[in-house]
Amino acid sequence: MPAVRHPQHDGDIIIAGAGCAGLSALWHLLQSPLADRRILIVDRTIEPRDDRTWSFWGPPDAPFAWLADRSWRDVEVRFPSWTSTQRLGTWRGPRRYHRVRSRDYTAAILALAERQPNVRLVPAAMLGIDDEHDGARVRTALGDLRAPVVMQSVGRPPGGPPARHPLRQHFGGWEVRTEHPIFRPGVATLMDFDAPQDDGTAFFYLLPDAADRALVEFTTFSRRPRDRTFYDHHVREYVADHGAGDVAVERTEYGCIPMEDRSWPQRCGHHVWNLGTVGGMTKPTSGYTFQRIHRHSRHLVDTMAATGDPAELPDPPRRFAFGDRTLLHLLDHRPELGRTIFERLFRTTPIDRVLTFLDEASSLAQDARMVAHLPLGPFLAAAAAETRAAWRDRRELDRAFGDTATSIQLDPAPDVHVRAELFEAPVGDIVAA
Ligand SMILES: Cc1cc2nc3c(=O)[nH]c(=O)nc-3n(C[C@H](O)[C@H](O)[C@H](O)COP(=O)(O)OP(=O)(O)OC[C@H]3O[C@@H](n4cnc5c(N)ncnc54)[C@H](O)[C@@H]3O)c2cc1C
Repeated sequence: MPAVRHPQHDGDIIIAGAGCAGLSALWHLLQSPLADRRILIVDRTIEPRDDRTWSFWGPPDAPFAWLADRSWRDVEVRFPSWTSTQRLGTWRGPRRYHRVRSRDYTAAILALAERQPNVRLVPAAMLGIDDEHDGARVRTALGDLRAPVVMQSVGRPPGGPPARHPLRQHFGGWEVRTEHPIFRPGVATLMDFDAPQDDGTAFFYLLPDAADRALVEFTTFSRRPRDRTFYDHHVREYVADHGAGDVAVERTEYGCIPMEDRSWPQRCGHHVWNLGTVGGMTKPTSGYTFQRIHRHSRHLVDTMAATGDPAELPDPPRRFAFGDRTLLHLLDHRPELGRTIFERLFRTTPIDRVLTFLDEASSLAQDARMVAHLPLGPFLAAAAAETRAAWRDRRELDRAFGDTATSIQLDPAPDVHVRAELFEAPVGDIVAA
């Protein structure tokens, strides 16, 4: 462990937040040589929740694919005048698009935790987290908790410049049962751009279970999320236009994910590690976070088991962050180009290769080929603006956003208010206006 056990410590590790990232850290700890450590996991509600579905791609046996309720071999992208359906798979082998429901994920990991005598579940609202001399303190409504290491997914450390492109991926969807069979159950539609683009780059996302059952989501990239009626309206129109007939809504899902151009620190002080969304694990241009959360928490646990101290996940090559900033710049300042950019991208690059790029695992030559087909003038202008800003912001980031923060203040109120303060617009669940 990084610090000698102190009599004031309530455990060896505190996991603050039992969402996707906190439970990922817990799961990896329980699979590791650290499985017998005294672990406390704190959240305002520690119970299975059915508020999200997490999708990701990977081999049939990808981490957490065993929890998927559905996996698709074929995916497609649709534009008003053409559609491309493709089988997933790379030279390394087959790939699937997996979907894990949050209720199955939380139920499986919490059931495992409940069988461990060394794991304590603490249902409590948290007020703050402080890095201290010999560990860290989590302030909760029930009192303070201390441990040598805190892994937190509940708050962003203060400081740093405002985001240059504070875009959000905001969406709302229905799981529907339709009177008529209108879906193709073997194919997941990642983007259907037959959607109004007035509010920003917008598309529908379809995960079908059967010809008459699917999750249908309407997603927009823009600065301001909308209230639920906005997404409901578009989903209702979409299924009606596709000849659904009568529609029964079996479940709804609304969300807001930051598309941030800022890079966020993985730690706060010496003993507090930032996980998940607040640890910067969201891919800014796609919103995909699930796989990156697991890669990050596995790395922290592996390094802690090997050396006694967690270590930061190394940064990917800088060109990926630069590419994200350039695309965010365009989506923010030239939203009318959004659909054209994606159309050119998918006309010239196989979906598999785009997914490998989103994994930040593509080669420089592959990236160059992909970018060469995109609208060159606007991309060069955006890249030039981002290069200038990178020099300026770098200095600011180093000054205010390094490892200097030692305290995180939290709002004990429900997520959406906390996240509003963190991201300058609500992130997490969207509430009715
Ligand atoms: C509806 C939705 C769908 C998504 N779908 C996908 C997807 O398909 N694929 C993908 O890769 N990503 C997806 N994401 C993005 C990302 O994977 C999720 O947001 C993911 O849940 C982030 O995990 P996290 O642990 O960082 O945050 P969360 O899962 O939100 O966990 C944070 C936890 O902290 C607790 N908490 C916060 N503040 C306090 C406090 N003060 N006191 C006590 N507890 C507190 C909350 O109760 C919560 O349990 C989706 C996001 C949303 C909102």
